[in-house]
Amino acid sequence: MTLKEVERFITLLAEAHPDAASELDFVDDYTLLVAVALSAQATDASVNRATKGLFRDAPDPAAMVALGEDGVAAHIRSIGLWRTKARNVVALSQALLDQHEGQVPRDRAALEALPGVGRKTANVVMNVAFGDSTMAVDTHIFRIGNRTGLAPGRTTRAVEDQLVARIPAPLLRPAHHWLILHGRYVCKARRPECWRCPAQEPCQYTAKVLVAPAR
Ligand code: SF4
Repeated sequence: MTLKEVERFITLLAEAHPDAASELDFVDDYTLLVAVALSAQATDASVNRATKGLFRDAPDPAAMVALGEDGVAAHIRSIGLWRTKARNVVALSQALLDQHEGQVPRDRAALEALPGVGRKTANVVMNVAFGDSTMAVDTHIFRIGNRTGLAPGRTTRAVEDQLVARIPAPLLRPAHHWLILHGRYVCKARRPECWRCPAQEPCQYTAKVLVAPAR
């Protein structure tokens, strides 16, 4: 895809999702960080169901540490990898208290040093909480990048670097949300719904599904 086509692709998604935002529920930087850390290999809806009670009982790092691993686990047992996630949420909350005065740090290195926080989680927090033009590549964005010609790459980091280099700077920050929603609801993994895709024209996928299935 040429740079002009990349801009057209992203602009068409922007027009389709003008109010795109994270579908995770959170009230501040801390609850955003915890929600994103819990969302690995889990749907946003399942995380939201779990965090409703968790954030009521533990809305800040001190309360989360006081709740402890077993207390956190009791809230998040319905989502994948709950044992590890419960341990990490308590440990990252303790690290915020010990090293950052209970605040979520702004810079990437400090975020990625927190237990259970990898590059993708750091990118989401930097984008949503701090307004940085980062691109968190999840399974949806990785698929779209490769399928459409937008940002081909063998690894999530390669796709991330391509997207950051190719999407016009003013569009980069919101593009994260546009691409996730597009992958979740239109450019789906098993059967992309090309017949109703706003970005069909610049997309270079050679096996577009142009006819909707009969109901
Ligand atoms: S045309 Fe199809 S493959 Fe291309 S972006 Fe749209 S849904 Fe995805």
